[in-house]
Amino acid sequence: MSKLSVEQQIKDFILTECHQNKVGIASIDRFNSSPKGMHPCDVLPGCQSVIAFCTRVPDGAINATLRAYENNKFNVHGQYALFGYVGSPNYNLLWGNYKAARFVEKLTGEIAVPQTAGPTHGMAMLSMRHLAVAAGLGQFGWNSIVLTPEFGPRNRFGAILTTAKLAADPMMDGPRLCDYKKCHICEKVCPTGAIPPYRPGQERIVDFGEGHIEKYSCINWTKCKLACEGDYKDWNINGDFDLIDPVITNPLNEEFVQTQQWRGKPENVDMHFYQHTTTWKCGNCMQYCPVGRWKERYRDKNISSFDGNQYIDGVPDVSMDVYNGKDNFSNEYE
Ligand code: SF4
Ligand code: SF4
Repeated sequence: MSKLSVEQQIKDFILTECHQNKVGIASIDRFNSSPKGMHPCDVLPGCQSVIAFCTRVPDGAINATLRAYENNKFNVHGQYALFGYVGSPNYNLLWGNYKAARFVEKLTGEIAVPQTAGPTHGMAMLSMRHLAVAAGLGQFGWNSIVLTPEFGPRNRFGAILTTAKLAADPMMDGPRLCDYKKCHICEKVCPTGAIPPYRPGQERIVDFGEGHIEKYSCINWTKCKLACEGDYKDWNINGDFDLIDPVITNPLNEEFVQTQQWRGKPENVDMHFYQHTTTWKCGNCMQYCPVGRWKERYRDKNISSFDGNQYIDGVPDVSMDVYNGKDNFSNEYE
């Protein structure tokens, strides 16, 4: 019999056998303020704990997005789709989820429900971002993506709901990874203006209980779709016309109808991938966020010439990653 606690055995299994980069546990009381239908107990009655974990996005996949936007090499952009967004990370999470859920059930005798990952599913799912923050893996950035000290926003998250009552990990206190009152990088690099500038009182607020409050911007998701689905001529593979007026300021969902009709024609399908539509053609707010040792990973290695200094108030260099998590790297299983 193992001398390790049940929690430690689960974490070790997820980090090694399931090839995940971080893992944490949230107690069910952290979801008391979840919206109706988005509480873990809405999916698993009697859920007591949430085990969340992440797969980091390889720097090589980020390189593909950098080449697309810094060198107009849009023909390599699919590497990001496959290895950084839709494909491999989600399958790593999916398979890890399946193995981990079986392990938790065998170890505890309780129910463990694996959650699906990204577009590899056809059903409703809980917010992996909120589960990850509740389990202490990271904090929200202004871009609404969860930042980890090790990888910034360049992670994908998965989770298991279980009726096993497990000891929770602390939420990530300490220095805020994102100082959105000073840093404006994600707002400024967003091509559609989907990320608003910081205004006091206009943040989205999430209450995890016991004083753990997280804030992030109220993104205009319809504007975000304009870029992510490749509706500008520079960003769709044919590149011969704009699917949507590039200067539109307040797009409505109905205005996407023409683009969906365009994609519906076999000769116009602008992707050759197992997803109903492209959703990976932007990501600027993810690739240029300085948290997670951006400078060391990309600029110092000469794979990005982006200079974020101009978008950070009162900071002489891209040095937002003051809390860069180097001490936490023992958890990293590549
Ligand atoms: S993915 Fe692109 S369009 Fe969407 S919010 Fe981020 S930067 Fe803006
Ligand atoms: S780019 Fe700056 S403001 Fe945006 S999430 Fe990252 S640290 Fe926060």
